[in-house]
Amino acid sequence: MEVHNVELTISAVQPSQYPEGDLPEIAFVGRSNVGKSSLTNTLINRKAFARTSSQPGKTQTLNFYKVEEQVYFVDVPGYGYAKVSKQSREKWGQMIEKYLSERPQLKGVVSLVDARHAPSEEDIAMYNWLTYFGIPVLVVATKADKISRGKWNKAESQIKHSLEFDATASDFEMFSSQTKFGKENVWDWIEARMAD
Ligand code: GDP
Repeated sequence: MEVHNVELTISAVQPSQYPEGDLPEIAFVGRSNVGKSSLTNTLINRKAFARTSSQPGKTQTLNFYKVEEQVYFVDVPGYGYAKVSKQSREKWGQMIEKYLSERPQLKGVVSLVDARHAPSEEDIAMYNWLTYFGIPVLVVATKADKISRGKWNKAESQIKHSLEFDATASDFEMFSSQTKFGKENVWDWIEARMAD
């Protein structure tokens, strides 16, 4: 998609604030610092639109970005915070779980992992959880430019092995926000989900 127009529609702290209407939604999940804002900014051709790394302890919101009046990108705050209190993490987790499992507009989830490392336990839990609920998942391995091209296949198989990747329920792409490798394929996946 050629993107010219993006607006932050709402930073929601509760479900009553989610946008009305039936535009499809694509959610982006991953550990903080994995490259989530870099990916979304690449997809929408912006240098810095989606906020970079929400700081630990900051108010956590589900951010709905309306892209070309056709789709919402939903930025789900990075998991893996140490500093957020257990209580607020649980409350927050429940809101995210509810959003991901019960939102009719949600057509797919882009789940980011770092191409250089084995997925964390949280990455694995998130992947299992999403596939359990039958949500189409695109696993995007970020920062691919940081490993040599000759090692991409190995990195991909290691990530898939750790996730017990289910190729019937999910897809995989390598991505670099630095070289923009993977941008078209990620967009193709999103557009296919929008049409589902
Ligand atoms: P977020 O917390 O998941 O939103 O992560 P950011 O997008 O803010 O990225 C975290 C850090 O990783 C920043 O310093 C980015 O410049 C860097 N980064 C993100 N994506 C890439 C990438 O594809 N390649 C490289 N080399 N660095 C990246």
